[in-house]
Amino acid sequence: MKKSTRVHHPSPVQVPADNRPVVAPIYQSVKFEFDTVEETVRSMRGERPGFFYMRASNPTTRQLELTLAALQDRDDCLATASGVNAITQTLLALTKQGDHVLCFIESYGPTRYVIRRLLGRFGVTHTMLSITDLVGIEQALATTPTRLVVFESPTNPVTKIADIEAITRLARRHGAATLLDNTLAGLHQHGQYDIDFFLHSLTKYASGSGDVMGGAVIARAELLRPLRIEFSVQGGVLDPHSAFLIQRGLRTYFVRYREQSAAAGRIAEHLARHSAIAGVHYPGLPTHPQHALARAQMTDFGTVVSFDLRAGAEAGRRFTESLRLFAKAASLGSTESLALAPQMLQPHDLTPEQRTTSGITDGLVRLSIGLEDVDDLLADIDRALAAAA
Ligand SMILES: *Cc1c(COP(=O)(O)O)cnc(C)c1O
Repeated sequence: MKKSTRVHHPSPVQVPADNRPVVAPIYQSVKFEFDTVEETVRSMRGERPGFFYMRASNPTTRQLELTLAALQDRDDCLATASGVNAITQTLLALTKQGDHVLCFIESYGPTRYVIRRLLGRFGVTHTMLSITDLVGIEQALATTPTRLVVFESPTNPVTKIADIEAITRLARRHGAATLLDNTLAGLHQHGQYDIDFFLHSLTKYASGSGDVMGGAVIARAELLRPLRIEFSVQGGVLDPHSAFLIQRGLRTYFVRYREQSAAAGRIAEHLARHSAIAGVHYPGLPTHPQHALARAQMTDFGTVVSFDLRAGAEAGRRFTESLRLFAKAASLGSTESLALAPQMLQPHDLTPEQRTTSGITDGLVRLSIGLEDVDDLLADIDRALAAAA
C-alpha cells in the first residue's frame, strides 16, 4: 500500500467490549459501513440497528437525542442545526395546503415569520391571538378546523404564561395537535402536560455556553416517526461535534438553570422596588398577573427578566449602554448576562394594536441573567439605572 493510499485507511483501534470511555467519543464520521451488502441494505430499510449516513443519524447525535427526550419525559427526539430549523422543519412536516394553524402575538419572531410568510406561501392559513385569550382560543378552535396550536410559555420578553392544561384540553377536544416551544422553560419543565411536540433551541440552556447552535423536536416515538425521513431529506441535521458540546453542556444544565433562576428572582425583586421602573415582568414575582398559574406549572421560573422604564426608550438605551457586566446581545440561557434595549425589542411585523397587546412598551428592557455573582450584577444594574436617570 502506497502512503497516499495508507492515509485513507487508518488502523482501526478496537476498544474491548469490557473497556469503555467514561465520556462517549465524538463519532466524527459521515459514513458507516457493514461487513456485507445484505446487512447494509437491512440497515437502510430499518430492519437492524446501525448507522449509514450522518444526515439520517450519527451515534453522537443520537446519544444527545436520547438524553434530551428523557429530560422532557418523552421517548424520542430529532436534533437539528438550530432552534429555528427545528421549528421550520417540524411545521413543514406537520402541515399541508389548506391546513390552519393557531399561533400567538407573543411568539418568537421567526416562528411568526415561518407561519405567516413561509407556510402562507404554501396555502396554510393561520389565526393569531394573544396567549392569555383563552376565550378566543376556545372560539377559534370551535369554529375553524385547526391542524396545529403553536405556542410558548413563558413568552419572551414579557414572560406571559400559557395555561397549558387548558390549551392542551381544548386542542385535544377539537382535534388539533399541540406544539410547545419550551425553550424558555427548559428541558425539565412541562413534561407532565399532554403536549404532542416540544421544541427547543439547544443554543440556549442546553448548551449553556453561547458557543454552539442546535435545536430539537421531542415527542413520543410514534409521532416523530413520520418526521424522521423528512428531516433527513431536508438535511438540517445537528453535526456530531456540536452534539458533543451540547451533551457536555447538559451535565451542568440543572445547576445552571436553578442557580441562574434564583439570581433572576433576586434581580426581579430588586428592580420591583426601584422608583424609575413602572413594572417588572418575571413569573416568580408574586405581582406577576399569572404568578399562581406559573407556580402550578413550573418549579423554576427561568432567567429572563424584563421591566418598563418610566422614562421610555432613550432611558432604556442609556441604561443598557451604561451596563458593564451585561453584553448588549441577543439570545439567552448562557452563563453570561445579556441586556436588550427597547430599540432592540420592537416587533416590526405586528400592527400597533397587536404591539399593545404583546405588552412590549417603548421603555421595555430585557435582561437575561447569567452565572456571575448576583451582587455584582445588582451593583451594575443600580449604577446603570442611576446613569440613565
Ligand atoms: C432562540 C429561540 C429560538 C431559536 O433558536 P436558535 O437556536 O437561535 O435558532 C426559538 N424559540 C425560542 C423561544 C428562542 O428563544
